[in-house]
Amino acid sequence: MGLIACKFGGSSAADGLQIRKVRSIVESDPNRRFVVVSAPGKRYDADNKITDLLYLLKAQTEHNAPYGQLLQVIKERFLGLEADLGVQVDIVGEFAEIEENLKNGATADYLASRGEYLSAKMIAAFLGYDFVDTAGLVLFTAKGKFLYEETNEALGAELAKHERAVIPGFYGTLPDGSIKTFTRGGSDITGSLVARAARADTYENWTDVSGFLMADPRIVDNPKAISNISYKELRELSYMGASVLHENAIYPARLADIPINIRNTNAPEDPGTIISADDTPQKGQIITGVAGNKDFTVIGIYKNMMSNEIGFIKRILSILEDYDIPIEHIPSGIDTVSLVIADKYLEDKLGDLIEDFEKKLGADSIELYENMSLIATVGLGMASVHGVAARLFNALTDAGVNIRMIDQGSSELNIIVGVETKDFNTAIRAIYSAFIS
Ligand code: ADP
Ligand code: ASP
Ligand code: MG
Repeated sequence: MGLIACKFGGSSAADGLQIRKVRSIVESDPNRRFVVVSAPGKRYDADNKITDLLYLLKAQTEHNAPYGQLLQVIKERFLGLEADLGVQVDIVGEFAEIEENLKNGATADYLASRGEYLSAKMIAAFLGYDFVDTAGLVLFTAKGKFLYEETNEALGAELAKHERAVIPGFYGTLPDGSIKTFTRGGSDITGSLVARAARADTYENWTDVSGFLMADPRIVDNPKAISNISYKELRELSYMGASVLHENAIYPARLADIPINIRNTNAPEDPGTIISADDTPQKGQIITGVAGNKDFTVIGIYKNMMSNEIGFIKRILSILEDYDIPIEHIPSGIDTVSLVIADKYLEDKLGDLIEDFEKKLGADSIELYENMSLIATVGLGMASVHGVAARLFNALTDAGVNIRMIDQGSSELNIIVGVETKDFNTAIRAIYSAFIS
C-alpha cells in the first residue's frame, strides 16, 4: 500500500496512554508518514476537552472575569503530557506567549487553535517526526471562506519537503496571517486536505469507535458497524448529525478519489469503515444508516389553489432572504408548503417573520411546529426495494411517534422525517429495528 495520511481525534490525544497507542499504530506501518492531530479530548466522561476550555477562556476575558485559574488548568494539562511523554517542547514558554496574546485581545479562533498546535508539537517530538504548522498553508479569504485549491498547492509544496510530519488539525490563516479555525470537529477536514495534498492512497481517520455505525451508539444499543459506504451516503449521514466525521471532510478526499478508513485507536485490529466512491449497494442491505438532528422549527403554510399561483414559493423565499434565513427543506403538497428551518437561524426573528408571511402571502393558514427534529434514513439500497417508506412510517406509528413532515429525496438515497424532539430517540430506535435485524 502507498502513502497513508492519518488523523487522530481528541480521544486519541487525550493522555500519555492514548498517545502511546497512536505511536504504536503509526510505527506499525512505515507508510503512515503524515499524521494530523486534534487537541487533547476527554480522558473520562466528566472530563473537559481542551478546545472547550480554550473557548471558555475567551468567554471569561470577554466578561472581564478572572481567567488565571482556568489558564493554569489548561497549562497543567499540557505540562502533564510533556512530562508523561518525556518530550521538551517548552510548554512554559508557549503559555507565556498565549497569556501575552490573551492580554492583548487574542481572538477566540487563535485561542482555540492552540489546543491542536501544542498537541501536534508534542506528538511530533514524541514520534520524532517534523512539526508542520498549518498557519500559512491552510488558507482562507479575508471573509473567512476556505480556499481549497490554494491550500492544496501550499500544503502539497510544504509536505513534499518532509519525509514524515505531524500536523495540527482544525485551523489555518486569513490573508493577514491571523488564525482562522474550521467549525467544531474540523480536524477531520485538515486530515482530508493533507491526504489530498500529499497524494495519499488512504486517509485513515482514527477515533474511539470501530467505524461508522448504522446509528448513534449513544441512542441505539450496539448498532452494527458499516463496513463499506459511499461518499454520497456518508455525506447525508454526517450532514444529518452522525458526528463521527465532519461533513466537510468528505469533499477533498472525494475530489482526489482517496478512500477514507474510519478506525478505532483502542481496537486497531478492527477493520473499521471504508468510505469510497463505490456506490453499488451492499448485498441484502436496504438501509445503510440512520441519523438525525434536533432543534428545528417547521412552518406549515396552507393556501387554497396555491399550486395555480405562479411565484408563490418565490415570494416565500424572498421574504426569508430579507431575514437572512436559510431553509433546510421545503416539502410541498398541492396547496401546502412546509418550511423546515434550523432554530439557530430563527432566534428572535420568528415573530416578525410570521407576521410578514401573514401580510404578504395571503395564506389561509400558517401553522407553527416548534421543537422538531429531522431524522434521515439513508441507503443506496432503498431505490430498488418496494415499500421502504411504508415500512418506515409503520415502524414510527407503531412506536407512537407522530410524523410532522416527510421529504423523500428524488435520488431515493434518503427519506427524511420531521418528528417532535421528545420522540427523537424513540424514532431512531424504531427505524433502526425496522430495517436491521
Ligand atoms: P474524534 O474526537 O475522534 O474526532 P468524535 O467524538 O468527533 O471523535 O466522533 C466519534 C463519536 O461519534 C463516537 O464516539 C460516537 O459517540 C459518535 N457517533 C455518533 N453517531 C455515530 C455513528 N453513526 N457511528 C459511530 N459513532 C457515532
Ligand atoms: N478540537 C476541535 C474540536 O473540539 C477540532 C477537532 O477535534 O476536530 O472541535
Ligand atoms: Mg471529531
